[in-house]
Amino acid sequence: MAAAQRIVIENCSIATVDANDTEYATGHIVVADNRIESLGAGRAPEGLENVVRRIDATGHLVTPGLINTHHHFYQWITRGLATDHNLFDWLVALYPTWARIDEPMVRSAAQGSLAMMARGGVTTAMDHHYVHPQGSGDLSGAIIGAARDMGVRFTLARGSMDRSEKDGGLPPDFAVETLEGALAATEETVRKHHDASFDAMTQVAVAPCSPFSISTELLRQGAELARRLGVRMHTHGSETVEEEKFCHELFGMGPTDYFESTGWLGEDVWMAHCVHMNDSDIAAFARTKTGVAHCPSSNARLAAGIARVPDMLAAGVPVGLGVDGTASNESGELHTELRNALLINRLGAHREAALNARQALRLGTFGGAQVLGRAAEIGSLEPGKLADLVLWKLDTLAHASIADPVTALVFGAAAPVTASFVNGRQIVEHGRLLTADEDAIARSTREQAQRLAGIAGQA
Ligand SMILES: [Zn+2]
Repeated sequence: MAAAQRIVIENCSIATVDANDTEYATGHIVVADNRIESLGAGRAPEGLENVVRRIDATGHLVTPGLINTHHHFYQWITRGLATDHNLFDWLVALYPTWARIDEPMVRSAAQGSLAMMARGGVTTAMDHHYVHPQGSGDLSGAIIGAARDMGVRFTLARGSMDRSEKDGGLPPDFAVETLEGALAATEETVRKHHDASFDAMTQVAVAPCSPFSISTELLRQGAELARRLGVRMHTHGSETVEEEKFCHELFGMGPTDYFESTGWLGEDVWMAHCVHMNDSDIAAFARTKTGVAHCPSSNARLAAGIARVPDMLAAGVPVGLGVDGTASNESGELHTELRNALLINRLGAHREAALNARQALRLGTFGGAQVLGRAAEIGSLEPGKLADLVLWKLDTLAHASIADPVTALVFGAAAPVTASFVNGRQIVEHGRLLTADEDAIARSTREQAQRLAGIAGQA
């Protein structure tokens, strides 16, 4: 076997986000191939062999790469529409357009979504893709290919919908799959693309969309399928008061009880939003170790409310951060969600005691790794873990006068990314992608957005 190639990063602040929140005011990190080999205070050890690169990171904070736990990539080409709506009205306004997507549109939108996140320090992304119009092509393959080409670690949550208007659901009839079709296609996607290995770049989860767009049977059988295949489960839950009302009217219980009754609480499950949770809902999540993807900007954009993140953390619920689809969070960036999570939660019941800067950074890193089921591999900087890390430049006008680097990163302006590494490979330099042409992606996403608007307009 060839000797490991080493990259040495020195003279930086380091926030490891390990179990003790270990930090180094000035330290070093040694990367060997795709793993973190060692890290600590001061300069790297003398005499290391096979050092192919030495980075003087003076003026930088190094953190684990950011991990996004909820998104809908295809929405990149339907941003800025239905801007003054709540969730249900927004969905009803957009479903007819979304039902017209095809493979080139989805590929382009995935590239746009991934590029925007990656250049802002995201090293692990996920896409909850639940719109599969008949004859639209291999959407899962297109999305996975886009992530692979960009070099971003990735989980595809293979979504589905089978409860349309005729069955009391929200999506139009032509936008949904059959129960059998959705389950078979999901199983095929898992078998074709899921990699269970430690350094996997692609994983697949089973992900029916939401209580108001799927049948109870799709939830039940989806859970059975995921557990038979040994993959994780993802869906939307407890997002709005309208959803809560819908669940009480249709199922005679609230969303959390409904999920529990269908096998959808467990340590292999993570759920987006969880805004409207009472104490017993939070206790049920904590007891079962069900994870939460907290999406503060999307919740604000759709006037959904403020999730009780401090209470969830106090109870022991794993919580990560999510951009959510960019039709409800047009910025599409995750590093700004660190700040938004902190600020929005301080508007809630706990006020100034809600979240601090280090808790916000943990949500965006280790918390994300937990909910994606990858806490052993990513989410913190520790020897043996995968080399997914970001160098944030904090010595410019935007941050230089803030003494504490983690405070600067979370409270300050969106920090420039000097370098971002995934699996030991650099994918961003000075805020620009090394693995894709941003300008070409910008052009193609505009063309595909116009094409979709044209097709939807004729329908
Ligand atoms: Zn969502």
